[in-house]
Amino acid sequence: MTALRAGAGRILIGERLLPQTGDKCRTLGLLGRCAIISDSNVAQLFAACVSKSLVSSGFRPILITIRAGEKSKTLEQAGAICDGMIAAGLDRQSFVIGLGGGMIGDISGFVAAIYHRSIPHVQIPTTLLAMVDSSIGGKTGVDTRDGKNLIGAFHQPSLVIDDLDVLKTLPRRHFNQGFAEIVKHAVIADAKMFGTLQRWHAADAAALQRLIRSNIRIKSKIVAKDERDLTGERALLNFGHTVGHAIERAGDYRQFLHGEALSLGIVAACAVSNKSAGLPANQRDAIVRLLAQFGLPTRLPKNIAREKILKALKFDKKFESGKIRFVVIPRIGKALRTNDVTLHDIREAIGQL
Ligand code: NAD
Ligand code: ZN
Repeated sequence: MTALRAGAGRILIGERLLPQTGDKCRTLGLLGRCAIISDSNVAQLFAACVSKSLVSSGFRPILITIRAGEKSKTLEQAGAICDGMIAAGLDRQSFVIGLGGGMIGDISGFVAAIYHRSIPHVQIPTTLLAMVDSSIGGKTGVDTRDGKNLIGAFHQPSLVIDDLDVLKTLPRRHFNQGFAEIVKHAVIADAKMFGTLQRWHAADAAALQRLIRSNIRIKSKIVAKDERDLTGERALLNFGHTVGHAIERAGDYRQFLHGEALSLGIVAACAVSNKSAGLPANQRDAIVRLLAQFGLPTRLPKNIAREKILKALKFDKKFESGKIRFVVIPRIGKALRTNDVTLHDIREAIGQL
């Protein structure tokens, strides 16, 4: 097991960690009652183990299970969770454990942020995407009818427990989508990790552990410079996301997983970078090959109309007077923000997908 620090919190990475949850919470000085918030798939697999560990360390946990899927990430659901916690008598000394993927991480963190004006949040990410991305950085929130993550709060987790064993039950498609964020991290900040990924073979646990640790470091370092997303530094993490989000929306959030849409968004952002930031064509091609190596899409399926993506793109709030704030890469390992990318450039890149 290795331990890292991110912001005020601690991140543990290793195997066989779930049975030590109670111990680790105790070491952190957490007291009182706690609510394990999980989804209907994950709770079945891991809630009993986490709960047993907490009980044997002297905690009295309650389990709140919500239906799996992004549709559960709403303000109403967050309210219902709070109601359940109030009914169970959880008070200001209590804490929340989010046991699940990014959906659970976001909603459980949001509940922790608002319950009694904020109580500690422990995250146990159970997807690769949640380990390398959503559990880092303290962004929590819920979706509304009009868009994703429009309501939320910054609330850094006190503890994150990344137990590699939980990834064994993760469906292959969900495992692979985590690599879209990993490739993104390599492309914006770490050329060496890009090389490691090119040589990646169905990994052993030690290699996967090192990879997760590198990704946590990359994201935490960027977040530390701009925790509240104000100076633009944190926006570098949005590389590939402008077009990625539009593709997700164009597929009605059903056709693509987030990481799959991001993969296509990265391909488009690389085309823009090649045209306007000097990204060499051979590096662009290497990025596309790497995404494909992880089973991620790099060509748009025929049944998705490009016009639908452009319409979704214009809906994006970052779009101002014909120009868009866009992240480009002049080379692998370096990202920049620019205001010079036009809708025409993006249309052209989407046309090539
Ligand atoms: P998810 O939480 O919906 O999990 C995906 C699916 O896998 C679900 O059906 C879940 O039940 C199942 N699952 C999870 N762990 C499993 C396991 N170990 N074994 C078997 N099945 C398992 O989705 P996700 O891809 O982890 O995360 C996406 C969410 O993360 C979105 O809501 C997105 O907005 C959010 N996100 C947040 C941030 C942030 O900074 N806060 C960053 C990126 C993404
Ligand atoms: Zn993302």
